Amino acid sequence: MPQARLPDVNTAYIKYRNEIIQAIKEKNWPLLHGTLHSLNALLPPEYRVLISSAEYDKLAVPEVSYKCNFCAKETDKSEIEVFDCVRTSVERLLVGFIGASDDNNKTWICAKCNKTNKLQKTIISQTVLSNPSFLGVVPNPPERMDGLMDRLKFEKALEIWGLEFLSELEQKMALFRDDHWNRGEEEGDLAIDTSTEESS
Ligand SMILES: [Zn+2]
Repeated sequence: MPQARLPDVNTAYIKYRNEIIQAIKEKNWPLLHGTLHSLNALLPPEYRVLISSAEYDKLAVPEVSYKCNFCAKETDKSEIEVFDCVRTSVERLLVGFIGASDDNNKTWICAKCNKTNKLQKTIISQTVLSNPSFLGVVPNPPERMDGLMDRLKFEKALEIWGLEFLSELEQKMALFRDDHWNRGEEEGDLAIDTSTEESS
């Protein structure tokens, strides 16, 4: 990209950013979609944010692990199989007659020490993604579904989605700036420096 175009990108970026924030404040959803996509398109392809629920789900999966009560080692949830242990006849009666919680009987076996743990007594830890977490990906925008999501919930979801998209774009813009502007040159020089235009 010619260096001289960079200030133009920056000016357009600031304009779109203000419009996105304005659109969220005014709940102007068509403007929100339009400005987010315009800002994304403004960036060179390698800096764009990908919009894909499938990709987002792959990256945003929290890590859940179970801690063994015998050896105290943690095992990832994906490696654990939870099953019902054989109940005593009294327990079976309780489940059948008074609807006692089935969770009482769920167990898992620690692969590290082979001991059987009761699920209910297991400490389950979840590593939540640090926030803000920059994945370079946002999910598809929430869609309004009649009967399933009321207007307020839908608008809240769109607002959160818009802000997440914007923060990803801000991260990309920061990278873009670092890659192109911080090469020992002052920003002021770029406006008058046209010597690099021919070569790029
Ligand atoms: Zn163990």
